[in-house]
Amino acid sequence: MKAPKHANVALFIPFNGCPHRCSFCDQRSITGKAYQPTPDDVRSAIETALDSLKENSVHSEIAFFGGSFTAIDRKYMRSLLGAAALYIDRFKGIRISTRPDCIDEEILSLLKTYHVTAIELGAQSMDDTVLLKNDRGHSAADVRRASALIKRHCFELGLQMMTGLYGSTPESDAATAKAFIELHPDTVRIYPTIVMKGTRLGELYEEGTYQPQSLNSAVELCAKLIELFTANGVRVIRVGLHDSESLKENRLAGPYHPAFRELCESRIMLEKAVTLLRNKEKGKYTLRVHPKCRSKMTGNQKANLVALRERGYEIAMIEDERISDLDVEIV
Ligand code: SF4
Repeated sequence: MKAPKHANVALFIPFNGCPHRCSFCDQRSITGKAYQPTPDDVRSAIETALDSLKENSVHSEIAFFGGSFTAIDRKYMRSLLGAAALYIDRFKGIRISTRPDCIDEEILSLLKTYHVTAIELGAQSMDDTVLLKNDRGHSAADVRRASALIKRHCFELGLQMMTGLYGSTPESDAATAKAFIELHPDTVRIYPTIVMKGTRLGELYEEGTYQPQSLNSAVELCAKLIELFTANGVRVIRVGLHDSESLKENRLAGPYHPAFRELCESRIMLEKAVTLLRNKEKGKYTLRVHPKCRSKMTGNQKANLVALRERGYEIAMIEDERISDLDVEIV
């Protein structure tokens, strides 16, 4: 059976509600939009989406991203939510993203009134030194407090983290992932830090104070984080920034790749194959993979097959629908 078509109706409110600018953030470039949507824009985006999604819309969400939704002007917030709520019966729910220090009982009650179902917190790190160095203006304790409130009010909880922030290490990033798991989020997003023009991080990079992760080290770390979250029952719904023209134009440095998640999943499959073959004699082997994972096992420009060949293993593959996503077996 074909999976239902799932595409969120995403509306961006760049920087709206943000008390200041975080070191790395240039929302206008990241989302490709500077304009703030009106309730009419919300209606028209939803109507357009309904035209193409048809009955599949019930698997999709109406989402407000790109700023600190719970801190925007209340009248404006109500007008956007009011426009979205009119269509709630045709969608899975309404999703918003915000800061951990902009959540309290009162705002959660208001969001419930408008049928908001999922709240994502831009937590970014659970290391207070990293948060301070990146001008986040909140603490790890704020993330814990807000997460507990969101869960208590029965919203779906999403947590967003960044790797390679100014002052972070792979160990502190892994510690952030473990601290997230203790908060029992339903979903996470993982974003390797990209250095954008016009940000304080950009200045730190240009003066040589900040060095971003290489693509290879970001892939290595994020592959481990995906495995850690998945093993603990947390759905990883995004890895790496969306591809956009303005992101390409305004990126100064950092581990950007348009298919970043695919690179990470490919690395996961390589590690599984290496573990399976570790105690085997060098030679020819056939690996069994799910049909949709053949290209991931092969790797970008055959990188995985080359890496295995260098270890002495010539690999053929067969596809098997019964094997799980990203799993590998020796035939
Ligand atoms: S709170 Fe989020 S959207 Fe606002 S400046 Fe910071 S990272 Fe950007």
